[in-house]
Amino acid sequence: METYLIKSETTTLKITPEAYHTMIEHGESGFPNEICGFLYGKYSGDEKLITLAKPAENVKEGDQRRRFEIDPRDYQRAEVFALTEGFDFLGIYHTHPNHPAIPSIHDLKQAMPVFSYIILSIQEGKFDHIRSWQIDDQENKFFEENITNLNQNG
Ligand SMILES: [Zn+2]
Repeated sequence: METYLIKSETTTLKITPEAYHTMIEHGESGFPNEICGFLYGKYSGDEKLITLAKPAENVKEGDQRRRFEIDPRDYQRAEVFALTEGFDFLGIYHTHPNHPAIPSIHDLKQAMPVFSYIILSIQEGKFDHIRSWQIDDQENKFFEENITNLNQNG
């Protein structure tokens, strides 16, 4: 499944410890459901720095252990928030409870160009690992963004 989803190229991304810990706490407290949120920060050259992770509501009806959905109005509010607070709106994070941080077909269908898609794997309620992805909309595949400033296992 992974090979046709994922290209070999990578780009880079940095995450502040504050944003990182927000995502981990949110992901662990939401277990066994998938949680989701918005990522804000700044572009500097072709590198992104994520300085703020802001929890969003998972509005998926029914079983939330394998899916998340964000209300379109919350996307609009997130755009306004970024503008008024002087951030770049950089992407979305979500969790994979008891699954690796590899995007699913469902994630691919929902992904928007340019955005970073950070996935945190939460194993039995504890953070396990984090990876970040971006879509290549020409080929409809993800490529990985290397997170360069974290010990990605803790
Ligand atoms: Zn997913």
